[in-house]
Amino acid sequence: MSFRAVFYLVVISKKGKLMKNNLHAQMEVSDKLKEECGVFGIYDFDGNDVASTIYYGLFALQHRGQESCGIAVSDTKGPKGVVQSYKGMGLVNEVFTEDTFDNMKGDIGVGHVRYSTAGASSRENAQPLVLNYIKGTLALAHNGNLINAVRLREELAYDGAIFQTTIDSEVIAYHIARARVKTATVEEAVLHAMKKVEGAYSLVVMSPRKLIGARDPYGFKPLCIGKRDNAYIITSETCALDTIGAEFVRDVLPGEIVTITKDGIKSDTSMCLPAEKEARCIFEYIYFARPDSRIDGRSVYHSRILAGRYLAMDSPVEADLVVGVPESGNAAALGYSLESGIPYGTAFVKNGYVGRTFIKPKQSSRESSVRVKLNVLKEAVEGKRIIMIDDSIVRGTTSDRIVSMLKEAGAKEVHMRVSSPPFLWPCYFGTDVPAREQLIAYNRTIEEIREMIGADSLGYLKTERLEQLTGGLPICKGCFTGNYPLDPPEDDIRGDFEK
Ligand code: SF4
Repeated sequence: MSFRAVFYLVVISKKGKLMKNNLHAQMEVSDKLKEECGVFGIYDFDGNDVASTIYYGLFALQHRGQESCGIAVSDTKGPKGVVQSYKGMGLVNEVFTEDTFDNMKGDIGVGHVRYSTAGASSRENAQPLVLNYIKGTLALAHNGNLINAVRLREELAYDGAIFQTTIDSEVIAYHIARARVKTATVEEAVLHAMKKVEGAYSLVVMSPRKLIGARDPYGFKPLCIGKRDNAYIITSETCALDTIGAEFVRDVLPGEIVTITKDGIKSDTSMCLPAEKEARCIFEYIYFARPDSRIDGRSVYHSRILAGRYLAMDSPVEADLVVGVPESGNAAALGYSLESGIPYGTAFVKNGYVGRTFIKPKQSSRESSVRVKLNVLKEAVEGKRIIMIDDSIVRGTTSDRIVSMLKEAGAKEVHMRVSSPPFLWPCYFGTDVPAREQLIAYNRTIEEIREMIGADSLGYLKTERLEQLTGGLPICKGCFTGNYPLDPPEDDIRGDFEK
C-alpha cells in the first residue's frame, strides 16, 4: 500500500458518517501483518549434500516470507571459503529448480525466506548474504529488525565500508567479519557483533567449517535446533524439522550462541539476560508461526486454542455457530467453541492459489481481492447468528468486507471476536505493524470500530491474557501497550536504509 493511499484512509475516516463507505472504497489490500523472515541452516557430518534439504526446510517456512529466498552451501572438505549460492525473487518453488541443486554441492549450508520490513524488496536484498573477507567466507541469514542499524551503518560507512544491500542484516555481517579479523573463532566474532547490535535477530551463520546459530537476548524471534541422522539443523520453527524428518533437540535460548562442529554443540550464554527480561514476540504465537510449531516448549496451536477460550470467557455472546477466518482464526474459533459449547463450523472457503504475483483488482472493478481469496458457504451461515474469529485487525480494510459477505449470505447476526488486543503502536522488531495513524484502533473506541466494520458486536482479547498464552514465558506486547522491552528509536527508522 502506498503512503498516499494510507493518508486518504486517515483523512476521510475522520469525517464521521463517510467512514464506513470509504472504508469499503479503500484499496484492496490484505489486512494481515507480514512476518519478516525464516532461516534454516544445516551441517551434515556424513558429508551428504544439503541444498535440497534446505529447500524443503524453506518450503516449510514459506509462511514467514514470500518475497524472496536463497540458499548458500559450502563443502567442508573442499577449499576453505568456497561458497555456492543462489537466490531470487519469489516463492521457494518458483526460484529453485532441480537444476539449481546440480551445481550446489556442499555438506553445510544456510537458507532464507524473506518479506521486507527494512530494505526494499529486491534481488540484492535477498539472503543469505555471502561475505568474502580476509579470513574466508561467511554466509548469513537473519530474521528480525535491528533498531540501531542506521547509526551502525553510518559509522561503518564513514570508516570506508561499502554496502551491497539496503538491509540491516548486512550491518551484522560486517560486524562479524570485522571482529573475526581479531578473534580466534567465528563464534567469538558473532559475540562481538551481538554486543554492537540492538533489536531483534535470530541468525544462522555458516563459516567454512562451522554452523552457528544466535538469538538476540530478548528472544523476539524463535530459533531451534534439530538433528537428522548425523546432521544438525538450526531453524526458525519446528515445523521445518518435521518436514525434513528431523527430531527436535532443543530451542536456542534467548541470548545464546550455539556452534555446531564435528565435536558437537557448543553453547555460549554470556549474552543471556535474566529470564524475566526476555521478550518473545507474542504475535508468533497468535499468528505468524505455523500452528504445528512449538516455540520455547510451547505449542502454537495450544496458545491459539487458549486465546479462543479466553475470548469466550471475556466476551460471551449468544449465537448458533463459531467460525474462524482462515487459516489463523480457525484454532481460536475452535477454542471459543470448546469453552462456550456453541458448535464450531466452517463458513469460508479459501482460494489457496492467491500468490505473490496476484494482480489486485482495481478499485473501479467489481471484483474484490477479499472475495477472490475467500468465499462464504451460504448453506452453513444462512439464518444463523455467527461468531466470527480473526487473529487481528490492523487497518481494518478487510474486516468490514468479510462481515458484509456473511450478512449477504444470510447470516442473521455477525459477532466479531479478535484473538489479539487492539494494535495501538508500531513494531520496530521485524513485524510490519504500521505507524499509529494507520491503525484502526488508534484514537477510536471499540464501539466506533464495531460500527465501521458493520458487526453486531466486537470483542478483543484482553491484554492481560497475553502472558497466559505462553504459559507465563516473558513476552513482548509493545504493539498493544506501547511498552517495549528496549527503547524504540526516537523516529520511525523503518525504511531509512532506502534514503
Ligand atoms: S511490538 Fe508486537 S509485533 Fe513487534 S515484537 Fe513486540 S509483540 Fe511482536
